[in-house]
Amino acid sequence: MRILIVEDEIQLADALSEILKRNKYTVDTVYNGIDGLDNAMSDVYDCIILDIMLPGMSGLEILSNIRREKIATPVLLLTARSEIDDKINGLDCGADDYLTKPFVTGELLARLRALTRRRGDIVDDNRLAYNGLELNKNTSSVIWNGSDVKLSLKEYQIMELLISNPRQILPKERIIEKIWGYESDVEYNNIEVYISFLRKKLSVISAPVQIKTARGIGYSLE
Ligand code: CA
Repeated sequence: MRILIVEDEIQLADALSEILKRNKYTVDTVYNGIDGLDNAMSDVYDCIILDIMLPGMSGLEILSNIRREKIATPVLLLTARSEIDDKINGLDCGADDYLTKPFVTGELLARLRALTRRRGDIVDDNRLAYNGLELNKNTSSVIWNGSDVKLSLKEYQIMELLISNPRQILPKERIIEKIWGYESDVEYNNIEVYISFLRKKLSVISAPVQIKTARGIGYSLE
C-alpha cells in the first residue's frame, strides 16, 4: 500500500516514513502544501497523512481541493493540541480521521489499518485472503492449505495489490505507480519478471488462484 505524508516538520515526517516503511508500506514524503496537493492529485495513494499548518498551502485547503476533484483517498489529519477548531473544520472538509500530536506509533498504525481496509476478505490486520489463499504480512508469505512460500518485498507488495482487487485487471502503469511511484523509471518488463516469480511461487504451493495476463493491459488475480 502506498501512503503520502505531508508534514513540514522534517524530523517528524522522516521518522513517520521510516516507521511506515518498516511496516511494509510504500511511502512518499513531501514537506510543503504545494507538493502535497500535487502528489495527492495523482490519486495513487491508499491513505494521506496530512498536517494542517503547512508552508505554501494548508492541509485543509489541500483536503478541500482533492475532495472537489472527487478524489476519495482516506485522509488522516495531524493536528496540534491547540487546533481544536481546525480538527472540526477538517472533518467537515472530508477528513476521515485525525490524530493529535504528539501521538504514539501504535495508535498511528492502528488508525492507518482502519482507514486502508480493503475489499479482499480480511482475516485480521496482518492477513489478507482470497479464495482461501492467505497473504501474511508478518511473515511476508502466501499460504495455501498448510503450505507457505516467502515473498520478497516487491513480490509482497504486488501480491497485496492483486489480492485486494481480485478479478479486476490492474493495468501495468497502475502497478508501477502504486509500488514504485509515478516518477520512477521502472520498465514494464521489470513487472513481468516479478509476476513470473509470483506465478512460480503460487504454483509451488498449488495455490487455487492464478495471475492472468490481460495482453497489452496488465494482470488480474482469478
Ligand atoms: Ca506543520
